[in-house]
Amino acid sequence: LFSWYQNELIPTKELKINFTDDITGQLRGFRIFTACVRFGSNKKIFKRKKHIKRLYKSAKSIKMKSPYSKTDLNKIIDSVVEKNKDYDGDIQFDIIFSGGKTSSDGFTPLGLSTLIILSVKPFDFPDKFFKEGMKLVTFAFQRPFANVKYTFYLPAIFAHLTIVKDQEADGIIFVDPNDNETILEGSSFNIFMINSNDQILTYPLNGKILKGITRSIVIKICEKFKDLEVLEQSFTKNELINSKEVFITSTTRDVMPVTNVDGFIINDGKPGKLTMELREALIEFRRNSN
Ligand code: PLP
Repeated sequence: LFSWYQNELIPTKELKINFTDDITGQLRGFRIFTACVRFGSNKKIFKRKKHIKRLYKSAKSIKMKSPYSKTDLNKIIDSVVEKNKDYDGDIQFDIIFSGGKTSSDGFTPLGLSTLIILSVKPFDFPDKFFKEGMKLVTFAFQRPFANVKYTFYLPAIFAHLTIVKDQEADGIIFVDPNDNETILEGSSFNIFMINSNDQILTYPLNGKILKGITRSIVIKICEKFKDLEVLEQSFTKNELINSKEVFITSTTRDVMPVTNVDGFIINDGKPGKLTMELREALIEFRRNSN
């Protein structure tokens, strides 16, 4: 697989970052990205436009200078996609704007950010996640600048090294630290629950979560194709534990069932019926899109 760094296509295995050219990104973590996938089935990046749009919106909201105009970035992405065209499987492209050079205090970026496009094989999630559902644990934290997709995952990794490991779970969901009750989003996914009235709930876009692209697509699929009601409203840990079905969404996971939260079994402990239908519908939607 081929990646992109500083004006050149380069085999991913040989990708090396020049640290001093990117102190704000590497040392200070001033770095945003989007993770999109070119599925082997149609060789196009799924929802590419939406990913690029969110990336530029993220840059704008933290006053980061984009390395290229949208038009020029799209040309570069085209060249990366083209270079990898003979690869058969799915490819994840992490399109990264990294802070770049800095003044001496290390806090003021000078000039434009640096473009890195990392091309990798997406992570293979265990079959167990789909067959038995995931086991998640809650962690009180709200991502700062939550509507920005950035590469700072320290709290989530800390949670994985502690509670996820201790409780033999598969991942974490952030709970609003202000009330230790409201479910926000996951480490790298959005979360939905289905209540006893078959209403689907997910946290609203009020600046406390990332606007997941898969979240938006799933909402659309529910409303347009399945005639299901989606309420973008908050719910508590207690409501989640007592719900009928729970699932998460993200670019690399599509829809994934959740069957255990904080040790509490959701409903009968099996992946939800509607959840798996939505998963199929999303995959079908992707197959037919271009
Ligand atoms: N929330 C966070 C914090 C994320 O990092 C991600 C993606 O990595 C998501 C949600 C899901 O977003 P998307 O569906 O666009 O992949």
